[in-house]
Amino acid sequence: MTTTEAAPETAVKFSLELNEEQLQFQQWVHGFAEDVIRPAAAEWDEREETPWPILQEAAKIGLYGTDLIAATMPDPTGLTLPIGIEELFWGDAGIGMALMGSMLAVAAITGNGTPQQMGEWVGQCFGTPDNIQLGAFCVSEPDAGSDVSALKTTAVYDEAKDEWVLNGQKSWISNGGIAAVHVIVAAVEPDLGSRGQASFVVPPGTAGLTQGKKFQKHGIRASHTAEVFLDDVRVPGSCLLGGKEKLDARLAKAREGASTGTQAALSTFEATRPAVGAMALGVARAAYEYALDYAKEREQFGRAIIENQSIAFMLVDMKMEIDAARLLVWRAAWMAKNRVPFTAAEGSMSKLKAGEVAVWATERAMQVLGGMGYVRETPVERWHRDAKIFTIFEGTSEIQRLVISRAISGMRLS
Ligand SMILES: Cc1cc2nc3c(=O)[nH]c(=O)nc-3n(C[C@H](O)[C@H](O)[C@H](O)COP(=O)(O)OP(=O)(O)OC[C@H]3O[C@@H](n4cnc5c(N)ncnc54)[C@H](O)[C@@H]3O)c2cc1C
Repeated sequence: MTTTEAAPETAVKFSLELNEEQLQFQQWVHGFAEDVIRPAAAEWDEREETPWPILQEAAKIGLYGTDLIAATMPDPTGLTLPIGIEELFWGDAGIGMALMGSMLAVAAITGNGTPQQMGEWVGQCFGTPDNIQLGAFCVSEPDAGSDVSALKTTAVYDEAKDEWVLNGQKSWISNGGIAAVHVIVAAVEPDLGSRGQASFVVPPGTAGLTQGKKFQKHGIRASHTAEVFLDDVRVPGSCLLGGKEKLDARLAKAREGASTGTQAALSTFEATRPAVGAMALGVARAAYEYALDYAKEREQFGRAIIENQSIAFMLVDMKMEIDAARLLVWRAAWMAKNRVPFTAAEGSMSKLKAGEVAVWATERAMQVLGGMGYVRETPVERWHRDAKIFTIFEGTSEIQRLVISRAISGMRLS
């Protein structure tokens, strides 16, 4: 092509440069992460409690609540949300998860609900700056973690009262039991596996929903994780996300063995995976930056340790892997926003890569710091603990590989 020829339209459209609005948003979130989240991170990690005052500060400036959705969702590139999430988790993953946990419930409501249901429930997942509330998305059970099709929690329709009756036990639930709004995925027709499941909103204060054990965790300890028990929990018919007519049509198709399209829990996870990848990136980048600075300052044998190639090259690999993971996250976020189908499970790919990079990079950072990386005098020890969750929740690394292998082969591999 000569320089006088016009470039094809597709070529000029492509850019990885962030626009002014995205850059401003990134700086704004970074400022909150640096000034408010980081200084509080060690304390809330030790306390192992939801950091309510920080949620409140975030809500006051529009970083927790529907304002955040309004600020990120209109971006046609889909990048604003992952950019912001990366900064929050750069600040701290435990507090980041306390801030983002409600978004999982919101994703389930927006992904499966009617416009009316979204209007009713999304705001209630956050409350107001003066009365902070949480949302929880409840899929996992003691005997159904990776195998989401094996859920034992049931939802039975009481036609006379137009109510659904939920019974069962959920496990490992972020914000479980302390949330105002719980979104429960339950089996309506257990024989149909995941095709027989639906999502239900359990409104604040509903009788029969209680918290079980709160888990003591290895990392992200400022985020509450607990069991949720459902004992004859009755919710109005209007709490079935998507409505009964749609569910009946879907179940009828499933009984005939026909494809029913996306399934309740799986569609929520697919939509949120790039966001989880962005969380992992934040932790990985924090560790890389800390290790780089440390390596330039720390002297052994009369020179900075970065002057040893073994240290410098470790930092090179960390930077390269983090940048590669970010490209996968941005690609998946852009595809999701522009409704480009994930034909090779690109959402899973982004979460898989970023999660594994976070675990690997935080371990490398610890190596760069030596003993100082292993003790709580520096945050690297915490980041290493925090990173591990990204290869476990929202689908383990093995399950992501399974999803990707099915997508690329077109075969029902198991
Ligand atoms: C801190 C935390 C927060 C969480 N938050 C939520 C939440 O908000 N909502 C929610 O619903 N859930 C949540 N979870 C649950 C999480 O999604 C599950 O823990 C995860 O899906 C794995 O399930 P499992 O723990 O039962 O592990 P298992 O399914 O028992 O897996 C154990 C091991 O076996 C491997 N494995 C299983 N099946 C296969 C297979 N077919 N092929 C290869 N390997 C396989 C897994 O990869 C893993 O290594 C959370 C978990 C944690 C720890």
